[in-house]
Amino acid sequence: MVDLIPSSDTVMQMLKRTGAFREGHFVYPNGAHSPPYFQMPLAFRYYATARVLAVALSRKFRLDRDISSQLPKISIISPSSGGIPVAFGVRDALSAEQIYWAEQENGKRMFRQYVNKGEVNPCIIVDDIIRSGQAIEETVALVESLGSKVVGCGAIVRFSSAPEIVGGVAIKSLVTFDAHMYDSGDACADCKKNGPVENVRF
Ligand SMILES: [Zn+2]
Repeated sequence: MVDLIPSSDTVMQMLKRTGAFREGHFVYPNGAHSPPYFQMPLAFRYYATARVLAVALSRKFRLDRDISSQLPKISIISPSSGGIPVAFGVRDALSAEQIYWAEQENGKRMFRQYVNKGEVNPCIIVDDIIRSGQAIEETVALVESLGSKVVGCGAIVRFSSAPEIVGGVAIKSLVTFDAHMYDSGDACADCKKNGPVENVRF
């Protein structure tokens, strides 16, 4: 069972091979600069890779007795579109009963209309990548506003600068990555070398 969880190095190789992990000189919309960049859906475009990653993450939840004892009365929740393939894969591996994904409407993270208070099973929030943790925090608040509680949280990759605990639970991940982000170009080592810049949308 445990050998179905690939090592961090193995996961990084899969992310490199699929183009999801990229090295260069990237500028985020908020002005931050960073030499590495993750475009996680490129890993999830290959079904075999998507399945290995989702099953691996699901194993971490299954090993958690508090979670496994509540299955299948669990909902798997994605904070945004990037986490949807992760959520479906984890749901499938755990045979969890429900799945939800949030979207941003007018800057507010919401589920689709007509999801009522009391309908959402205890939640595992999953995402492809956790950078600042803001999307996860907003999803915890959303879930709690619907009268549910968070029993698990996880992602394929978690930046080491992101919180380790959210909604009272430790975040599980296959890779913890030190992203070496620069807040702006002023401090960026690659800018000092006048290297070409690539602007990324997320
Ligand atoms: Zn730079």
